[in-house]
Amino acid sequence: MIRLLPITKTSDIPPQYSDTPVGGLLRYHNLHVTHDQYQNAQILIGMCMDHRAHLNIPDNFAYIIRTGGANLRYSEFKVSYAIAVGQVKHIALIGHNNCGMVNLYARKESFIGGLINEAGWDRYLAEEHFMHFAPLFEIGNEIDFILSEAGRLRLRYPKIQVAPLMYLVEENRLHLIDER
Ligand SMILES: [Zn+2]
Repeated sequence: MIRLLPITKTSDIPPQYSDTPVGGLLRYHNLHVTHDQYQNAQILIGMCMDHRAHLNIPDNFAYIIRTGGANLRYSEFKVSYAIAVGQVKHIALIGHNNCGMVNLYARKESFIGGLINEAGWDRYLAEEHFMHFAPLFEIGNEIDFILSEAGRLRLRYPKIQVAPLMYLVEENRLHLIDER
């Protein structure tokens, strides 16, 4: 059974993260510690594009890639750039509850109808667009997806620390996904 670890005090941060920028992210966002000053990015944050998620972090602290569902499979060049050129050694992968990339097929008609009505597409192209891309961007389940994506990134970038997190939109707080 997958559990979320709430972070409400410093001692809630597991030792493998406490002295890393992942611990910094948790302290800044959840514990509201005073922002330090940074000249260079310390971490790459991958998170969903959803408007309900927003982070309280210092200037210059992080590269941030926002995608549907925090899916970085199609952003690999940017991940590589942050690591190779930006020299970050840590990735925080942040999913959230009630993500729109879960069960995309339930929104098929509103997606197609919206493209027709709001963007001026014709139905054939809108349907083809949905059917082509929905399987690529569907994430199935938020927590399972973040764990599998974290596993994929660890294999791809073996010297980089990857932390799987969940953002709960009702409380605007980060939780670590318990991997034990
Ligand atoms: Zn989302």
